[in-house]
Amino acid sequence: MTARVLVVDDILPNVKLLEAKLSSEYFDVITAMSGPEGIMKAETMSPDIILLDVMMPGMDGFEVCQRLKSNPATSNIPIVMVTALTDATDRVRGLEVGADDFLTKPVNDIALMARVRSLVRLKMTVDEWRTRENTSSQFGFATSKNTIISEAYEKARVLIIEDKDFESEKFVDTLTRDEDLVMAVRSGEQGIALAQQNDFDVIILSINLASEDGLRLCSHLRSNERTRAIPILIVSEETDIKRIAQALEIGAHDYILRPVDRNEMLARVHTQIRRKRYQDRLRANYEKSLAQALTDSLTGLYNRRYMQVHLDTLLKKNADAKKSLCVMMLDIDHFKAVNDTYGHGVGDEVLKTFAERISNSLRSFDLVVRLGGEEFLVVLPDTSMDMAKQVAERIRKSVCNTPFRVSAPIGHINVTVSIGAVLIQDGNSTVDEALQRSDVELYKAKEGGRNRVYFEGEGLVTVADKAAGSMAKTIAETI
Ligand code: GH3
Ligand code: MG
Ligand code: MG
Repeated sequence: MTARVLVVDDILPNVKLLEAKLSSEYFDVITAMSGPEGIMKAETMSPDIILLDVMMPGMDGFEVCQRLKSNPATSNIPIVMVTALTDATDRVRGLEVGADDFLTKPVNDIALMARVRSLVRLKMTVDEWRTRENTSSQFGFATSKNTIISEAYEKARVLIIEDKDFESEKFVDTLTRDEDLVMAVRSGEQGIALAQQNDFDVIILSINLASEDGLRLCSHLRSNERTRAIPILIVSEETDIKRIAQALEIGAHDYILRPVDRNEMLARVHTQIRRKRYQDRLRANYEKSLAQALTDSLTGLYNRRYMQVHLDTLLKKNADAKKSLCVMMLDIDHFKAVNDTYGHGVGDEVLKTFAERISNSLRSFDLVVRLGGEEFLVVLPDTSMDMAKQVAERIRKSVCNTPFRVSAPIGHINVTVSIGAVLIQDGNSTVDEALQRSDVELYKAKEGGRNRVYFEGEGLVTVADKAAGSMAKTIAETI
């Protein structure tokens, strides 16, 4: 993994030292000698991570960090503050202005590389979602203006896996200050079981458990579908730096050393929760705009854009498997009259009910599309001529047999539909041809008097009403 690292420090030898260490690991290093220069380079050179000195004349590291984290253009870049200070209050102050971590001078090489690698990896995930969000915004969908630091961190669900009771109690007590819902367990097995039933925002995991390997547990949580997106905060000893580096390599997001400072724990947990909530929000926005792009907002059915791609896939699959597929075009009869007589609002109600009725007449894997206006398309993969005819008739009857309920004072309206269908067996038909062929049949159905189904090569479809027949028979037998 290669990444661009921005080093900000007012003392040249410090800059040179970090630059040498990082370059030898093949990172691309850029440098700045003051706070304002650092901000300028962060804005213009898109670094993947920033190593930021705390003590600088003029604008200090806290202020630089605070500015970068509140600017949406740079808020996503992880910041590691590099400091000679070892006081926990300074660490907390940095974390509170949005720093992702601290390294103390002289910088330990293992800690430095582990930090940089894991933070860059995290950034890449968020970047991916941000790119998708940008794409959605180009399509005109609303995007969130949030930054990570503006996310709330209260009332989170936290899982603690720690076998030392006094430590565990201290963590629970600390986290309760944020009104977190905390569940504490003593073993990995219990933790994994709880994680299957709850959606945690963060997991606090000791990697010096007495009777099991915390690293193995960390790796398990990372690979499990249900837990892989939950940030893990490792708790360990300073002497364990190699294992901490391994944990970060496996995918833990952060670590804290014993004796655990309560404020530092809170600040680190806040960072993880905010990052997760931010990422969840990006993902939800993306899924929503994707759904909007591919579905029709009135009926919830797929739209023409989706059909174009999906029907193409279905036709190819159908040809490969040498199976037959039915394409039907549906058009509501005299729909203009519904609008003209009762108004557009009632017309919309009819369209919604119509969409529900046809969807309910089909299998879950059949495709229903609103092509536009009062025109719909139904695709039945892997379907014989007989079956397709029955389905088409079932749809036609589900529309005409029961009047459509609409808002008072009108109450009910009779609606009918005309259907043109083709069975595609040759495997050569394109999407456009399939649509055109079914449209020809639809035209015949309209010409033939509406409220009827025409099938290519078969003409008007009439199917014996098996369901009604057997029902009549059953009633007759009962009587
Ligand atoms: P035919 O039986 O020949 O299909 O006649 P028709 O009146 O159904 O067909 P026509 O194409 O003349 O009219 C379609 C009407 O559908 C015209 C248009 O105002 C209406 N329409 C299209 N989209 C919507 C919509 O989203 N909501 C409502 N309420 N009406 C719509
Ligand atoms: Mg119509
Ligand atoms: Mg029409």
